[in-house]
Amino acid sequence: VFDVLIVGGGPAGAAAAIYAARKGIRTGVLAERFGGQVLDTLAIENFVSVKETDGPHFAAALEQHVKSYEVDIMNMQRAAKLVPGKLIEITTAGGAVLKAKSVVLATGARWREINVPGEKEYRNHGVAYCPHCDGPLFKGKRVAVIGGGNSGVEAAIDLAGLVSHVTLIEFGAELRADAVLQRKLHSLRNVTVITSAQTTEIHGDGKKVSGLSYKERNTDALKQVELEGVFVQIGLVPNSEWLKGTLALSRHGEIEVDARGQTSIPGVFAAGDVTTVPYKQIVIAVGEGAKAALSAFDHLIRSDDE
Ligand code: FAD
Repeated sequence: VFDVLIVGGGPAGAAAAIYAARKGIRTGVLAERFGGQVLDTLAIENFVSVKETDGPHFAAALEQHVKSYEVDIMNMQRAAKLVPGKLIEITTAGGAVLKAKSVVLATGARWREINVPGEKEYRNHGVAYCPHCDGPLFKGKRVAVIGGGNSGVEAAIDLAGLVSHVTLIEFGAELRADAVLQRKLHSLRNVTVITSAQTTEIHGDGKKVSGLSYKERNTDALKQVELEGVFVQIGLVPNSEWLKGTLALSRHGEIEVDARGQTSIPGVFAAGDVTTVPYKQIVIAVGEGAKAALSAFDHLIRSDDE
């Protein structure tokens, strides 16, 4: 029986593991892919105190730090079910049942992909998903933002201050972002908004992005835009499908947590991109992971009656 069982091995899970292990309690980490989204990241320039690193190095450092403590790491195992109780049960996809007095859920999220030719080939070579992370890499260049919801319009506003030109491409006839964001967007001189447009392909020269094609949905005409970067902003999907019906999720599928990382089930805490906490960033996930582990510890010392 674990005192704290952490599900997820990204920045949030790793931080939770370190904080729990340092309390001298029995700590386990169950992760489908230790390292998480960072493994897919090229440059990381905003993790405070580390001026510059890359994803694989950052992930290796996370693992090394966790492994310097007594933590039972169960990598390449997916959690499939959580059953609440005095002892909380986590069942893996392989059918194993793990028991814990407290659980920290840190299963993260994934960017929704547009699934057009060129997207996978040029991921990290011009195709990006996080304007806070990768925006500065496109300083002075031309970029497109795909998606006209709040995140797409925010990204376009953010990028317009850095890059030479932004083309915002929305599939529907109108943008779906809040009116105040749309007003701000339309006030910017270096932004072009194209609606009723379906992105069909991202082009490149074999090494990096050189443009994209879209179909005008009203005329079926195929158009091309030359540019150096494409930000896909059509949604972040929390990895919480396996928890539906078990605990409270927001309408976007994020695990609802309070300021201590407490979920709707006693003894179950959550941290990082899978939760309702805004701004999905490494530095935030790490802080939230630490917080959830401390809350789990607090829960244990208050409920331990053996
Ligand atoms: P994740 O990193 O998503 O980790 C989730 C973990 O849970 C993984 O180990 C996963 O395998 C595991 N998991 C998922 N489901 C299950 C399950 N059912 N059972 C068991 N394990 C499961 N942020 C920055 O601050 N700076 C950047 O420069 C930056 N660049 C980015 C670039 C890219 C391309 C991407 C995709 C993201 C970037 N981000 C960046 C965002 C950052 O990576 C995330 O905010 C951060 O990784 C969130 O950490 P997390 O631990 O909450 O989740």
